[in-house]
Amino acid sequence: MKHLAVLTSGGDAPGMNAAIRAVVRTAIHKGVRVSGIGHGYQGLIEDDLRPLGARSVANVIQRGGTILRTARCEPFLTGEGRARAAATLRRHGVEGLIVIGGDGTYRGASALHEEHGVPVIGVPGTIDNDIYGTDVSIGFNTAINTALDAVDKLRDTAASHNRMFLAEVMGRHSGHIALNVGVAGGAEAILIPERPVDVEAVVDLLTAAERRGKTSSVVVVAEGAVPGGAVALQREIEERAGYEMRTVILGHVQRGGSPSTRDRVLASRLGSMAVEGLVSGRSGEMVGVDKRGNVFVPLADVVRQQKPIDEQLVELATILAI
Ligand code: ADP
Repeated sequence: MKHLAVLTSGGDAPGMNAAIRAVVRTAIHKGVRVSGIGHGYQGLIEDDLRPLGARSVANVIQRGGTILRTARCEPFLTGEGRARAAATLRRHGVEGLIVIGGDGTYRGASALHEEHGVPVIGVPGTIDNDIYGTDVSIGFNTAINTALDAVDKLRDTAASHNRMFLAEVMGRHSGHIALNVGVAGGAEAILIPERPVDVEAVVDLLTAAERRGKTSSVVVVAEGAVPGGAVALQREIEERAGYEMRTVILGHVQRGGSPSTRDRVLASRLGSMAVEGLVSGRSGEMVGVDKRGNVFVPLADVVRQQKPIDEQLVELATILAI
């Protein structure tokens, strides 16, 4: 292999730059040329390629976001769009593609691999940590640290004013952020999409906590845990129980910021491994980490299967909230 390309796609995540840097420098170490594609699959269709050398990725390991930019690309959902993307790669003599992103990005990469024989390797980059086949994805550790910092601050004011706070964190379909931040922040309750609860149950929980002598509460809510999110939940709780609550939506601040040490090391490891995989002839797989160490997981399995929530942590959260 003489020439590979790298892109970031879907939602940005802190640590993506560290992964790009690792891809570029590992490739150079192996005598392989690298092109960076701007704006995800959109750039592949629109021929937005630039050469990346060792110095192009200087000073990026500490930066959040992605220097290659990212995009959601409708045309790539069509066979015609993917044919144009494959033609771009052929024109530039690119022999392998590394995609950094989440499930949607892998669906696109799998289609490109199956329809046009393009060798592809996926690198898990999403703050949600909802990718099957890897214990962690790039950006998760930074995002939970950012969210936890906010929850700790809310706790200070909640305790001072005897208030109840709902802290909405990201996670439309998964509760990994909420669960970890909730346990680490000592939340009175954690609401996640994997375990739907009705408002009545939340009210009961808060009332019981009050009876046990708690004078303030912080409930961590994943955005997809209840229809309408934390704002709708607050309204319903106030109507039913007469509690006065405050809702704080952490929103996009959770995506940004300088990546944590763990995310930088993870991204460096996975980016490098992706190049090793491509160069040694692997394709249609994602790099990840689990109890066995570094692993390659078929993209077909990654997109088909749902990453389970940590049941032990769910139980522990309840025990520790007494
Ligand atoms: P993520 O990778 O974070 O899950 P998205 O779901 O937005 O993010 O997917 C990123 C991009 O991947 C989409 O904008 C689209 O271009 C491409 N993509 C997603 N699903 C498919 C699919 N089924 N087939 C082809 N391309 C897809």
